[in-house]
Amino acid sequence: MLRDTQMMLNYDYPLYRPPSEADSLIFQVTLGCSYNKCSFCDMYRTKEYSERPWDEVKAEIDMMSKILPQTKRIFLADGDALNLDAEYMQKIVKYLYEKFPVLERIACYAMPMNVLKKSESELKTLRDSGLNMFYLGIESGSDIVLKKVTKGATATTIVRACKKAKAAGYILSCMVILGLGGKTHSKEHIRGTARVLNEASPHYVGALTLYLENGIKEEFLTKFGEPFVPVSDSEALDELEDLIRQIDVNDDVIFRANHGSNAYTIKGTFPHDKQAMLEKIAWMKQHPEVVRPVGLRGF
Ligand code: SF4
Repeated sequence: MLRDTQMMLNYDYPLYRPPSEADSLIFQVTLGCSYNKCSFCDMYRTKEYSERPWDEVKAEIDMMSKILPQTKRIFLADGDALNLDAEYMQKIVKYLYEKFPVLERIACYAMPMNVLKKSESELKTLRDSGLNMFYLGIESGSDIVLKKVTKGATATTIVRACKKAKAAGYILSCMVILGLGGKTHSKEHIRGTARVLNEASPHYVGALTLYLENGIKEEFLTKFGEPFVPVSDSEALDELEDLIRQIDVNDDVIFRANHGSNAYTIKGTFPHDKQAMLEKIAWMKQHPEVVRPVGLRGF
């Protein structure tokens, strides 16, 4: 029903949302990504970043509020809706709560820079208006790797952004990418990523495995600046094991490595399930028949 009805919105494709927003109503308040330069990401390469005007956004909200008045979750697309000016974002968020009486949650993607550019009071005001959750790509906590994949952020700015968002009351869901540093930078990539996760302590962490679409592979390899040696599935599992071993948090962190790009599925909540996750990985290593066929990641 939701998917059928959403077709009425005449989306500007491609349209992306996190897996956990599968049942959310999506409004495209921006198109594309304002940065659009991460070398591993081709999500919005076909689009130029733009911000949709109020009359268009309002018309869509008005229409969908009549069709799906019982909507509880909304996701604001595209790649970094938080890039919108705080005042405009607040106008959208407030209007959504006016038009959807049982709305419980509004989420969007956010780059570290989007969060840092907003003042603490702007973030707090948006949070008080009902924007609840950010999906933020950490990708790596290694400055070497972040530079090589032209992420436009450092470990320090990522940690600052995460802490700032959490302090303002947002639920924070972060993504990291196994294999992003290749074999050469594998240890450094995982060490830095664990360090950032330990400092930022997001509510949710999703671990993906690097997958390069053909259209972006060339650019990724060129920008990497040195021969990129991809990690194998079993090495990605080693990275996952190292990452879990090095994550040391006091607050609950819900951890998922169950994305389609992963050869292995691991999930649990830190700190309680850390040992169980490590034991599951040890079991997987003894049962290589569960390994996905090599070569699916585009190398
Ligand atoms: S900021 Fe996000 S959406 Fe934009 S290019 Fe980087 S990974 Fe892709």
